Amino acid sequence: MDKFLKRKELDSEQNLEPDESPSMSGGQKKAKMVSASKFSGARQYSESYISVEFTFTGDANKPTPLCVVCGEKLANSAMVPSKLKRHLQTKHPSLQNKNADYFVCLRDNTEKQATFMRKTTKVNERVLKASYQVAELIAKSKKSHTVAETLILPACKAIVEEMLGPEAAKEIAKVPLSDNTISRRINDMSADIESVVLEKIRISEKFALQLDESTDISGHAQLLANVRFVDGDAIRENFFFCKALPEKTTGEEIFRVTSEYLEKGGLKWENCTSVCPVVVAWQGLGSCV
Ligand SMILES: [Zn+2]
Repeated sequence: MDKFLKRKELDSEQNLEPDESPSMSGGQKKAKMVSASKFSGARQYSESYISVEFTFTGDANKPTPLCVVCGEKLANSAMVPSKLKRHLQTKHPSLQNKNADYFVCLRDNTEKQATFMRKTTKVNERVLKASYQVAELIAKSKKSHTVAETLILPACKAIVEEMLGPEAAKEIAKVPLSDNTISRRINDMSADIESVVLEKIRISEKFALQLDESTDISGHAQLLANVRFVDGDAIRENFFFCKALPEKTTGEEIFRVTSEYLEKGGLKWENCTSVCPVVVAWQGLGSCV
């Protein structure tokens, strides 16, 4: 019984490729069949197809013929020597007389380039992510952004070189941690957080503000604001902005600076349910609001 079953399987394998070119040698003709394909009916790739400039790509059970010269992909149904040869004859007639080695060389070069590109992209992604992670740590710890270049990178290199060797230290050196880069990353993340918070407030519609003023080390007045709004089922409180008060620290000036920011963020005073000034001396703000 097993014999019959095996015989039947062999027959179906041979029947899968009725278009097989008689010009191909007997050994080359045998396509490597994947067992699953016997049931799915998908045509399989044979190593011999490289002599007509074709390799394959995609799902191993249903491979797609891929021309190694122009990169064109054909349907799985075209995975037969006659159709592949037709592509060679019509699209690349000048290469008709090239032998299989020429196409093998082309295929290997293309694959090498693709692998290199994939590897480089992966490394670049990891390097970028690491750079952002360091920037986030610096911002969260409220340290100067210059600490990455002056301390973190040399420290990392020293630790990694000692523990993992000079090769690993070379990899670490690829992470961009210069002053300008870290400053830019922090600004990027800050802008992203700001846009997310503003979007959430716009969705929530109503919001409440808490304002306070302070003086920085250079003696300039700064206005700080926190915002409270409904985010889904929760009430959130977020830092809203910090703006310089260039002229006076009167209620009118605070109102002007806050109004400017709200307008820029697409928010309206009508939706502000309450303002909580910490300093009571802000005469005038209440009347402005
Ligand atoms: Zn082609």
